[in-house]
Amino acid sequence: MPQTFPVPIFYECQRCTACCRWPGQVKITDAELARMAAHKGLSEAEFIERYTRLRWDRGGLALQEQPDGACIFLEGESCAVQPVKPQQCREFPNLWNFPGFEQTCHAFPREVSEAEYQRRLALIKTQGNERD
Ligand code: SF4
Ligand code: SF4
Repeated sequence: MPQTFPVPIFYECQRCTACCRWPGQVKITDAELARMAAHKGLSEAEFIERYTRLRWDRGGLALQEQPDGACIFLEGESCAVQPVKPQQCREFPNLWNFPGFEQTCHAFPREVSEAEYQRRLALIKTQGNERD
């Protein structure tokens, strides 16, 4: 019997914004901070003051939350820093997720070839702030 391998599944984001609303923290790196500050037309110091807080472990910065727990950059149904959003946001749910995430996340699970799967993962990892 020839060995068969599972078909890769790539989750296509439907921009439902559920992941921008659930409890958690969006960690940001120095480079991401600089890109988002430039995008907002702010100095890095102003950006830190207005939009960030210490991470729970005090090991760096995370984005602030709105009173209801949503990310500070969620505006209606869209992200105010979409072109430069943090890598943590870009990587969900294909590069990290949690058991049962499909119950809340509306990303469409599409079967793709291994080559296409790798191409899409590479885009998430490398395209960074060039992505829409
Ligand atoms: S930065 Fe944008 S994509 Fe990331 S959680 Fe906030 S609103 Fe959502
Ligand atoms: S990753 Fe999932 S939860 Fe987040 S916006 Fe896309 S479809 Fe919605």
